[in-house]
Amino acid sequence: MKIAFLGLGHMGLPMARNLVGAGHDVIGFDVVAAAVEAARAAGIPVATSGTEAASGADVVLTMFPSGRHVIEAYDGGLLAAAPPGTLFIDSSTIAVDEAQTAHERAVAAGHRNIDAPVSGGVVGAENGTLAFMVGGSDEDFAAALPLLEAMGKRIVHCGGPGLGQAAKVCNNMILAVSQIVVGEAFVLAERLGLEHQVLYDVVSQASGQCWALSTNCPVPGPVPTSPANRDYQPGFAGALMAKDLGLALQAIEATGTDARLGRLAQEIYAAFAAGEGGGRDFSGIITDIRDASAPPVPTP
Ligand code: NAD
Repeated sequence: MKIAFLGLGHMGLPMARNLVGAGHDVIGFDVVAAAVEAARAAGIPVATSGTEAASGADVVLTMFPSGRHVIEAYDGGLLAAAPPGTLFIDSSTIAVDEAQTAHERAVAAGHRNIDAPVSGGVVGAENGTLAFMVGGSDEDFAAALPLLEAMGKRIVHCGGPGLGQAAKVCNNMILAVSQIVVGEAFVLAERLGLEHQVLYDVVSQASGQCWALSTNCPVPGPVPTSPANRDYQPGFAGALMAKDLGLALQAIEATGTDARLGRLAQEIYAAFAAGEGGGRDFSGIITDIRDASAPPVPTP
């Protein structure tokens, strides 16, 4: 199988490298010259355009910033250039309705399509340990599986077109809300005189346990590998969390879901990302919570 891998950015480049490493026949392309150079230097053969890469492909895999990029690239030549029946896999994080539109356009052009967004970040992409959430038919999922297995460890078929993106927005909405409340709990504990380590020891073994506490602990000390120990260097940047919550909000509004915490999390992370938080790990929201809290009452 010949794979056109389009979008060789932070995630795409290491993913494409893992496909090459697993022995797949890959041809890459990115609209940014520096990304093309980096891919060439990493041993990934590159084409001179996306349509050139797609024209000889059995599979076209896209890893773009947003849904607009995906739909514009599909309509702007990829669907027309690819041989009939090409399997289009989009691993970008995009809105559920955009994924469904991309699917419809691909099918109308005589192709196959699945959405296969990922979690696991750049480290997961480099180590080939991404989680893939897949929306599409059983047949297309089965065809994509060997490729996804070369880039990831956990691959879940979530249902029909768009439902991979649905799983991704639901997961990240839970993650955002839990990271905020864990930050609030640590700031509350500080003001009550409860030590960070003690709160961690209790909650990590109690019903409040969650990833935002036990892996991404927002205070330095209890979990030495968490971003709080390196001044909130990401990790998962606030800008990406804000983007994903924007997609969650779109889905909340489109479905009329009474998701008050999801909406609030979107507002909180939009404000966080508009400032310095955009480039910091999203667990750095604890700093905003601490700063916005009233001055502590002095102890007598
Ligand atoms: P990135 O901006 O580093 O890479 C995207 C690349 O796509 C860029 O190099 C850009 O030039 C290229 N591109 C855009 N339009 C193109 C076109 N028509 N043809 C060819 N190349 C094109 O972004 P990233 O961090 O690699 O993220 C990619 C996607 O993965 C995003 O949707 C993001 O939300 C999602 N994601 C990122 C992370 C992460 O930690 N970075 C984690 C999970 C999911």
